[in-house]
Amino acid sequence: MDLEFTAEERAFREEVRGFIRDSLPPALAEKTRRMTHLGREDFVTWHRILNQRGWGAPGWPKEYGGPGWTLIQRYIFDEECAAADAPPLLPFGIAMVGPVIYTFGTEEQKKRYLPRILNMDDWWCQGYSEPGSGSDLASLRTKAESDGDHYVVNGHKIWTTQAHYANMMFCLVRTDPNAKPQEGISFLLIDMNTPGITVRPIISIDEGHGVNEVFLDNVRVPKSNLIGKEGKGWTYAKFLLGNERTTIAEVSTSKQRLRRLKEIARAEQAFGAPLIEEASFRAKVAAVEIELMALEYTNLRVLAAETAGKGVGPEASMLKIRGSEIQQTITELACEALGYYANPYEHRPDGSNQPPVGPDYAQGRMEAFLYNRATTIYGGSNEIQRNIIAKMVLGL
Ligand SMILES: Cc1cc2nc3c(=O)[nH]c(=O)nc-3n(C[C@H](O)[C@H](O)[C@H](O)COP(=O)(O)OP(=O)(O)OC[C@H]3O[C@@H](n4cnc5c(N)ncnc54)[C@H](O)[C@@H]3O)c2cc1C
Repeated sequence: MDLEFTAEERAFREEVRGFIRDSLPPALAEKTRRMTHLGREDFVTWHRILNQRGWGAPGWPKEYGGPGWTLIQRYIFDEECAAADAPPLLPFGIAMVGPVIYTFGTEEQKKRYLPRILNMDDWWCQGYSEPGSGSDLASLRTKAESDGDHYVVNGHKIWTTQAHYANMMFCLVRTDPNAKPQEGISFLLIDMNTPGITVRPIISIDEGHGVNEVFLDNVRVPKSNLIGKEGKGWTYAKFLLGNERTTIAEVSTSKQRLRRLKEIARAEQAFGAPLIEEASFRAKVAAVEIELMALEYTNLRVLAAETAGKGVGPEASMLKIRGSEIQQTITELACEALGYYANPYEHRPDGSNQPPVGPDYAQGRMEAFLYNRATTIYGGSNEIQRNIIAKMVLGL
């Protein structure tokens, strides 16, 4: 196992850094830096800039329009994007449904959807969870009944991130109510403009609108939108979740947020000196930095093993647990460092002529702290990840 970057990898880093420096609109970087809620256009703009360079889907092979990067190149790319405050690339198309389509889809599905994902012409959302079927996903009840060359879908999805922007949803549905729970599930691609779909917002604790309920009432979906075989959707769903957990560690984002935390702690005062010099706060920052370094090396070890052809097993759960906890700690420390300036909880629209309450660097920190409470829940809760580790590593 070699964790040193090669000369080619270092040259690649320079290339990525140069491209971002020349192409990332400063206003977009500023918005991302302030952690203000990014809108639809913000995500699409940056995604299309990358796609013009051939970097719209960093994880895809060349055959389907990706750059064909190694895992290490992808890691470097993520680091450079986060360090430059580029908006994150949304995972639903490029990291979730895209690989499912090119691995299990028909030629027609590949031809139709992959170029649209690359250019973000479609906005995808993930219709897995239902009320009562989150951790126990295989108990899902949304049903799809056969009617000629269509399925008729009825049910209720919940926590559907960005369904209010999406025009497409990849959805788990029950096609056989009599089979064992995992075997009666199918994976359908649903056009969100089909009659019978209602999207209702859920406003989260950060006062943001990111998640939704989706109601499906006699929604007719062409059978040509079925991925793979009917009743085998669980296999495709698990393939997708494995990918989700390795990206959810968010090492690069946490490194960038840690740098910001230190900036805040250098600017804030405690007992007449910069807060960063105060022993107990300094110890907390050091502790999370050590955790993050350890996570980064674990992540690199997993990448090195994957590059050597070994699959990802329970390591994905380890990365998810530690990555999400570190994200929570860093956002919490930022609020602690800000003291009462973390409290004003403003939503200043773009172009507002009202000055913010408190220093500029306080903007968005409370929203980030509150939203990050969800990191230990989404993508499979941390309790479930611990169950996986207990079973696969400890044999319990
Ligand atoms: C911000 C956010 C965005 C999300 N985005 C999406 C999305 O885009 N698409 C989508 O389909 N879903 C999405 N989800 C849903 C997410 O995947 C589920 O919330 C998650 O899987 C947990 O399911 P649940 O909410 O039903 O909780 P439950 O499964 O009811 O769990 C409740 C609690 O019990 C614990 N628990 C449950 N079972 C066990 C067990 N066997 N052992 C130990 N503890 C257990 C859990 O860890 C949790 O603490 C999102 C969730 C959030 C918060």
